[in-house]
Amino acid sequence: DAGAVGTTGDAPPPTQLPKGMILGKDGKPCRACNTKQTFMNFAAQAKSKKAAAIPVMRKDCPADVEILGRSTWTLLHSIAATYPTTPTPNEQNDLKSFMGLFAKLYPCWFCAEDFQRYIKKEEPRVSTRDEFGNWLCEAHNEVNKKLGKPTFDCSKWQERWRTGWKD
Ligand code: FAD
Repeated sequence: DAGAVGTTGDAPPPTQLPKGMILGKDGKPCRACNTKQTFMNFAAQAKSKKAAAIPVMRKDCPADVEILGRSTWTLLHSIAATYPTTPTPNEQNDLKSFMGLFAKLYPCWFCAEDFQRYIKKEEPRVSTRDEFGNWLCEAHNEVNKKLGKPTFDCSKWQERWRTGWKD
């Protein structure tokens, strides 16, 4: 849970970190765990100590938690969309292994820890494309709920990620 560990609310901040800034395991502000806005506030705060400068919003910056998340969901749902309708046992094993490693390597550490817990409880279902697409949709909805976002109608996952919308 992002709010519980590693935030400035948890332990005294080493310097003047903005409220809610999530630290990485190295104790430094974590790019992949915070929004760009939090980093902008951080930069503005640091600069205002020297001069009244407004930080410039560039596009080619390291991914924040939202860009990383959106791009990752795009990759995962696209993998579901191109997964075989009747995968071989090897293909099923590969997808299971991939999901297990993905959950360990995801760059936002608290997102990764929650996702690891989720796939332990709800093992990836990989025996057909539609089964995996639905499993992934449900997993994404868990994160949506955690973040207070609307849930997605999983009967429409193929339209969103594979075939395009029916008119
Ligand atoms: P996203 O949630 O990124 O969704 C992208 C698009 O997918 C949507 O526009 C919609 O068209 C479609 N979509 C939405 N829901 C579904 C669904 N259920 N099935 C199929 N398609 C769908 N952020 C945090 O702040 N805290 C976290 O703990 C956290 N955990 C994450 C864990 C994982 C594994 C991943 C991949 C991301 C996580 N994120 C987390 C990022 C978060 O889920 C969002 O990606 C981010 O907030 C940007 O949201 P968004 O509104 O652009 O839409």
